[in-house]
Amino acid sequence: MLNHILVLTSDPIEVKMLKSALGKSKSLFKIEWLKLLSSGIERLSASNIDAIIVNLSLPDSNGIATFDKLFAAVPNTPILTLSLLEKTELAEEAVSHGSQGNLSKAYLDSKIIPQALLDIIQRKHVEQNFNQEKVRAEIALNSINDAVICTDLSGKIDYLNASAVKMTGWSKKEAHGLHINEVFHIVDGATHEPPLENPVYMVLEKNVPMGLNAGTLLIQRNGEELSIEDSVSPIRDIRGEMTGVVIVFHDISTEREMSKKMEHLAQHDFLTNLPNRLLLNDRIAQAITLADRTETQFAILFLDLDNFKHINDSLGHETGDKLLQSVTERLSSCIRHSDTVSRQGGDEFVILLSSSKHGLEANLIANKILKVLNRPHYINKNSLHITTSIGISVYPADGKDAQTLIKNADTAMYGAKETGRNNYKFFRNEMNVRAVERQLVESQLRIALEKQEFELHYQPKVNLNTGAITGVEALLRWQHSNWGITNTKKFITVAEDSGLIIPIGNWVIREACMQAKRWIDTGIKPMRVAVNISAIEFHQDNFVDSVSQALIDSGLDAKYLQLEITESVLMRNADASATMLQQLRNMQVQIALDDFGTGYSSLSYLKQFPIDVLKIDQSFINDIQSVNDEAIIVSAIIGMANNLKLCVVAEGVENKTQLEFLKMKDCEEGQGYYFSPPLSGDLLAELLTENKLELVTALN
Ligand code: C2E
Ligand code: MG
Ligand code: MG
Repeated sequence: MLNHILVLTSDPIEVKMLKSALGKSKSLFKIEWLKLLSSGIERLSASNIDAIIVNLSLPDSNGIATFDKLFAAVPNTPILTLSLLEKTELAEEAVSHGSQGNLSKAYLDSKIIPQALLDIIQRKHVEQNFNQEKVRAEIALNSINDAVICTDLSGKIDYLNASAVKMTGWSKKEAHGLHINEVFHIVDGATHEPPLENPVYMVLEKNVPMGLNAGTLLIQRNGEELSIEDSVSPIRDIRGEMTGVVIVFHDISTEREMSKKMEHLAQHDFLTNLPNRLLLNDRIAQAITLADRTETQFAILFLDLDNFKHINDSLGHETGDKLLQSVTERLSSCIRHSDTVSRQGGDEFVILLSSSKHGLEANLIANKILKVLNRPHYINKNSLHITTSIGISVYPADGKDAQTLIKNADTAMYGAKETGRNNYKFFRNEMNVRAVERQLVESQLRIALEKQEFELHYQPKVNLNTGAITGVEALLRWQHSNWGITNTKKFITVAEDSGLIIPIGNWVIREACMQAKRWIDTGIKPMRVAVNISAIEFHQDNFVDSVSQALIDSGLDAKYLQLEITESVLMRNADASATMLQQLRNMQVQIALDDFGTGYSSLSYLKQFPIDVLKIDQSFINDIQSVNDEAIIVSAIIGMANNLKLCVVAEGVENKTQLEFLKMKDCEEGQGYYFSPPLSGDLLAELLTENKLELVTALN
């Protein structure tokens, strides 16, 4: 490779000598000669020169200034001074200003000149590369997010990059020379205790790299904390000797925050922010350990909101969601800090009541929950009423693990639903058998419609003064091929819980309307047929339409249809109920309030609904023992109903005493075994043709 050498001197002899010195290596050097510094500097800007040999005494510049100007123009090009003697003060000064050395005229003919010149050029190249790398490394270190701190062998800081400055809060200048402990102040995230020994000193001692414990916090200069993750390694020189330590660390606060959030999401229910199944199982496992150690018990409450599905369907999911949030708040207010309310999904909640001497406290909490939930929830301008059924299991009696305890509490909850909802039940072993039975009933109910196993029986309602039949109530009967007639109340509950009541109820309305029309067509005096309607049926979107369709299809005049609903149906969503009842009234369909007195509504509350008939629940009639009996409730209901001009029907009249009492109190109508049990359509037709009740009573 040809090296371009610029020679700056006004002395042609020097040039000649140089040329002769380098002459033997012609292929290696090309010499350019200029006399003035100004023309030299101009030449340097034109193209690359590999080395400069300069006599500092030039016509246009003299002394060290000549060197300085050249150096300023090309700091990366090696410059050699040329002087008369081997050593001059000026040449030495030039070395301290950056010169690569001095050539004495006395040695210009030396054979080593070409080699020395080549060495100088090469060394400058290496130095230049090294400098470039250093600058590049500095830029790289300052642009990364990782903080880098270096120390010497005594643990004193000799380097910080920009991130380290930012994270520690110490400037480069301030930190330089300080002991690592003063700047890199770390503690354990959980205990806030500093580590026994700063990892820097451990690395200095052991000469091996190491990482920091997870969860390490860096205390910044202003006292704030930063979660960091880092490693500490020895710095070694070319020979492998340790010369210091480098700490590389980064801020993981956001990552930790994120992972905390993810962990929370994985363990909590999105809608209510309550612990989910996963976290609950964990807490139950802890409760088991604690209960075993302290020989105490704890209880699991399984809650299912009564008829929640219906609210969701009729008022929309948004309202349903808000109701669940409102329920969550109330549940949380009923329990202690150490207990856990969790949502299992849908309208199911599980509560873990932590260790207690005896499971008995569970019923106090259950009672409290029933009471607190019963108050109306005001959501989207609706006043919503919701009740819940609660099943309770107790550790260790009802299960040794979370899964069994929850399953048994769930079974007990079904027991609570079966006994009329809005109550609680403790788990008993027989319940498991019942749960299986339930499942079986549900699966059989699914095919009962297809197999035409349903039938309607009709029970007359009688005018207590005249004895005339005023109407009939259609009551569903299920004649199962193997089980025979099954208990209506029980299978209706299963049908309601599974939603099967909708197709079944639809069939009932159509069948009842068609039967009533058939009676009329055979010449029997027309009268009303009453059909029982469950809450879920009533609150379907298209309920009024399906009633009207049944009337159209059967050809029955709407005034001969009566619908029996219970108070709880109205209470659930008063506004929507009132609108629907009005639509039915406009169609001339009558409404009877069934099982009256068992709910919580007052008669004055009922005034807002277009109701035609009140049916006093049979439990009150059952209480009547003698004609002189007080039977205050029955008397009050009859009195008030008469005032409101509603027709009153006493349900479940079984004997003459009850009949006499009711007549005395001016009760208009009665229904019960004393007059007639529910009968098949044909048997009832016979009775209606005769219109003589004695016949029927005699039939039984
Ligand atoms: P409910 O509407 O209050 O019907 C009266 C119940 O009392 C009927 O029971 C009837 O057989 C019974 N009963 C009649 N007279 C007497 C008496 O003198 N003494 C006693 N102890 N009981 C008497 P059933 O047929 O077992 O029905 C039970 C309940 O099932 C009904 O109560 C009603 O709530 C529901 N239900 C019946 N059929 C249907 C239906 O088609 N759809 C719906 N959604 N529910 C129905
Ligand atoms: Mg009824
Ligand atoms: Mg009833």
